[in-house]
Amino acid sequence: MKVITLTFNNFGENTYIVYDPSTLDCAVIDPGMMNDGEQRKLKEVIDRQGLHPVHVINTHMHIDHVLGNHFLSKEYGLSPEAHKEDAFLGERVAQQALMFGMPVDVQDVPVNTYLNQGDIIRIGEGELKVLHVPGHSPGSIALYDKQDGFVITGDALFAGSIGRTDLPGGSHPTLISAIRRELFTLPPETKVYPGHGPSTTIGAESRSNPFF
Ligand SMILES: [Zn+2]
Ligand SMILES: [Zn+2]
Repeated sequence: MKVITLTFNNFGENTYIVYDPSTLDCAVIDPGMMNDGEQRKLKEVIDRQGLHPVHVINTHMHIDHVLGNHFLSKEYGLSPEAHKEDAFLGERVAQQALMFGMPVDVQDVPVNTYLNQGDIIRIGEGELKVLHVPGHSPGSIALYDKQDGFVITGDALFAGSIGRTDLPGGSHPTLISAIRRELFTLPPETKVYPGHGPSTTIGAESRSNPFF
């Protein structure tokens, strides 16, 4: 599958569109659009490529990763798919907005479909495998495309860094061991698309990420 990266909202959050070039089915991962302009931008990209959204997946339910969920449910009738252990965060989006000093006219985002470790999400002829990588939040997941050798890591792993662990349900030792177990065991050439910042590879991070 192919990956399109868009960067939205005050947090510089990466929203990914993953699509199968043969069927043009796509998944939108972590829709972070915070206003009309950003919503239009996402829709333009989808329309220009002729894509059909079939899934909306949240790597976790922090506010910067869920701001665009309501737009996608209105526009395409797609409800959020995420890990059960992050559902409590989706029910506290307004509270998160207050905590981060953001405008509070945001809606909560109830998770509609629970994703579990090892689940396979089909997008046209492509597949994403769900990896549970807790620690940044309890229900954080990564999405692995084995065929095309990439993984979308949310806020678990960044180029040269890892996610913060001081938010509700976070745990530094849990995050370190989950990254070692679920991500550093992938082939080193696997491309990493993180929730913020530039892409990297599993090999580069397992060799030189200062947190390991
Ligand atoms: Zn986060
Ligand atoms: Zn984030």
